[in-house]
Amino acid sequence: MPVVIASGNGINATAMAMEKIRQGIDTLDAVVAGVNLVEEDPNEMTVGYGGYPNDQGVVELDACVMHGPTYRAGSVGALKGVKRPSRVAQLVMERTDHIMLVGDGALAFAKAHGFKEEDLLTEKAREAWLKWKESLSDQDDWLGEDERKLGFERPTGTINCCALNEKGELSGTTTTSGLAFKIPGRVGDSPIIGAGLYVDNEVGAAGATGRGEAVILSSGSRIVVENMRHGMKPHEAILDVLERICQKTVDRRLLYRKGYPKFNDTFYAINKDGEYACAAIYPGAKFAVHNGKENALQDAGYLLERPEDG
Ligand code: ASP
Repeated sequence: MPVVIASGNGINATAMAMEKIRQGIDTLDAVVAGVNLVEEDPNEMTVGYGGYPNDQGVVELDACVMHGPTYRAGSVGALKGVKRPSRVAQLVMERTDHIMLVGDGALAFAKAHGFKEEDLLTEKAREAWLKWKESLSDQDDWLGEDERKLGFERPTGTINCCALNEKGELSGTTTTSGLAFKIPGRVGDSPIIGAGLYVDNEVGAAGATGRGEAVILSSGSRIVVENMRHGMKPHEAILDVLERICQKTVDRRLLYRKGYPKFNDTFYAINKDGEYACAAIYPGAKFAVHNGKENALQDAGYLLERPEDG
């Protein structure tokens, strides 16, 4: 039975990807077609066109793809002006000998492949950025001494989408505008193979959304896949990584009084047998699943209840 899973903002992506898989289209083309819908949606403010900009009001996108059958990957970081970064990441995989292109080089590469350079900042995103800018100081990345102690949380969001077809072929993609109002040039986990996405055709696929710095530090998606390789079911494999993230988070500004993280991370995983799971540190997340019969949002599992001061 084919399966497509995605983050909670990906219900249209899972429908589109499953439709493509049923037409016999490759799993990578299928998931990229799925997330393209979300990248082009101006109302999704955490992915692609209309995403939250960096601290200068410029939208910078991160994305990656990984193709299980050929064990290849491609990625773009801090890409400006292009609406469908996942497709550019796919072209990096298909049309270069590299894995990752960033910044101006990624844009030049996209333009060489016929992508139009466009302004990705919508009025809604510009207004959100201006509001943030006008109430600045404890909400930026340039941490003063006091802010280090206090900590803060900003809007996050991303789409991850992974698919398995009837032949047992797996692929995945993760695409995002990244942390809202980030320092220009900041690259999160989403375009980093092993962090925001990892696919091994013999084992499974995993992806992540949430605080990218914690996902990079834990090599999160890679470890989820390795856990599945060593026999864990997708849910257990994810909880193990979430536990490690919690254990390794020691910076006080990132912790509630109880010692739990102030941020959330969510992982998505499918194994080779079509078993899948999604779990986050804290409850409340939903994820999208097309199981070959129906396309629906499901509740994600979780590791911890948010503490009272959270
Ligand atoms: N993981 C993304 C990043 O850190 C953001 C998110 O998923 O909310 O760039």
